[in-house]
Amino acid sequence: MGNFDVVVVGAGTGGSYASYLLAKAGLNVALVEMKKRDKVFKTTGDAIGIHHIERMVIKPPSQVFTIRYEGAELYSPDLSVRYVVLGKGFGLDMARWAQWLIGEAESAGAQVFDGYKVQGPIIENGKVSGVRVLKPDGTVEEFRAKVVIDASGVGAVVRSRLPREWWVSEPLLPEDASNAYREIIEVDYEIERPEYIRIYLDTNIAPGGYWWLFPKSRNTMNIGLGLWGKLSEEQGLNPRHNYDKYLATSQYVRGRKIIHASGGIVPTRRPLPSLVADGFLAVGDAAVTVNPVHGGGIGPALLSAELASKSVIEAFEKGDYSMRGLWRYNIEYLRAYGIKQAMLDVFRLMLQTLTNDQLNRGLRARLLTEDEVLEISEKGSLELSLVDKLKIGLRLMKVPDVAAKLRLALRYMNEAKSLYESYPTDPSGLSSWYGKLVSIYREYASRLGISLKWLLNT
Ligand SMILES: Cc1cc2nc3c(=O)[nH]c(=O)nc-3n(C[C@H](O)[C@H](O)[C@H](O)COP(=O)(O)OP(=O)(O)OC[C@H]3O[C@@H](n4cnc5c(N)ncnc54)[C@H](O)[C@@H]3O)c2cc1C
Repeated sequence: MGNFDVVVVGAGTGGSYASYLLAKAGLNVALVEMKKRDKVFKTTGDAIGIHHIERMVIKPPSQVFTIRYEGAELYSPDLSVRYVVLGKGFGLDMARWAQWLIGEAESAGAQVFDGYKVQGPIIENGKVSGVRVLKPDGTVEEFRAKVVIDASGVGAVVRSRLPREWWVSEPLLPEDASNAYREIIEVDYEIERPEYIRIYLDTNIAPGGYWWLFPKSRNTMNIGLGLWGKLSEEQGLNPRHNYDKYLATSQYVRGRKIIHASGGIVPTRRPLPSLVADGFLAVGDAAVTVNPVHGGGIGPALLSAELASKSVIEAFEKGDYSMRGLWRYNIEYLRAYGIKQAMLDVFRLMLQTLTNDQLNRGLRARLLTEDEVLEISEKGSLELSLVDKLKIGLRLMKVPDVAAKLRLALRYMNEAKSLYESYPTDPSGLSSWYGKLVSIYREYASRLGISLKWLLNT
């Protein structure tokens, strides 16, 4: 039996970074990863905004980056409209990124248990007091700790096995996820403007999502698509199938040599009602911290790891590992990013109801300008002067059906913002707060004309 201050489950971006921060603060940390450490690798689009990297307290070596980006190009379904949204970022080499982060955690003092698979939590007296671990020799050992951090990715191996009546264990439903498939390929032509990632809206290729082409060099790219999990569940849609049908046969992949092919599930939803429980916190995909509109989750995994670690360090200073003692993480997460995440979730649901025709007309009418798209993606909201409002009003008149949906989304984004700004300062207020959240979403979903299972279940 191992005894630690903190057990961190999963050595992906979130888990390794949290382990680094906690070990650096002098805590006795076990970082438990089911893969052998040289095999740790996450399937992603490999793109990250520069601000996430700049926020880190450790500086990544240049080898973890494959390319520098200057911005993103967003295309309408008929390709007649192209928005160029400026914003610096990087392409990551995910294998090197993972190895580097694990190395940093270990150098800071965390003990790395690779090839060790966590089976689930140990719960005693209503609190998490460790995890059961399947070791490489086939035996099972208990790893005990004052605090367990679930950083096991979208499967959330610990969180999903906590009692359902705990707020933190809210399940991830297909309607709140995107199913994605992507390939890293070499092509036989020179990619134009490799310093711009490309996002294509097209409800045939990627219904309820988008397809992307992220250059990795002049002749290599990460190309893939994500579609709405609700449609996979209800209509059997499959991203790999759409990839083969639409992208693998397209001019974009001319001379395609596959370097790596794989898929995954991306949580694209509002924040969990709570990220903490007694003796427990979740970070990264295990805590559904991904941006609901564009699906970027590497940066939020770093951010949540940072904020969770801060709250764990404080809990050790106070000797209080209870939900109440860890609550600060909820507050700081919402302030730093969760409020925006909630607003973007509202926006995402509206986007998922648009047809290709509506997307074409909406983008052609420039319902939102490039700057406004950037503002929504950075802040989750639009702050408009009277002049801006008038200008938008004129644009809206050209496409009334799309404008009506946009207006509806903006209204409920504001409602979500106000509600999340009044998130309770301690666990006692959570139940009534959650009731208000459900009412807002019920009203919004009904006005959008979509049915959401989580609302039926609550
Ligand atoms: C196809 C696709 C494209 C994407 N594109 C982008 C993009 O371009 N940019 C972006 O920012 N985000 C993107 N995302 C999202 C992003 O990849 C994730 O949000 C992010 O990597 C999550 O990091 P994490 O540390 O939370 O989890 P992960 O990186 O998934 O790490 C979890 C770790 O836990 C380990 N683990 C799991 N179960 C156990 C267990 N039982 N015991 C022990 N260890 C376990 C896993 O092996 C893994 O190493 C994409 C996702 C997908 C699927």
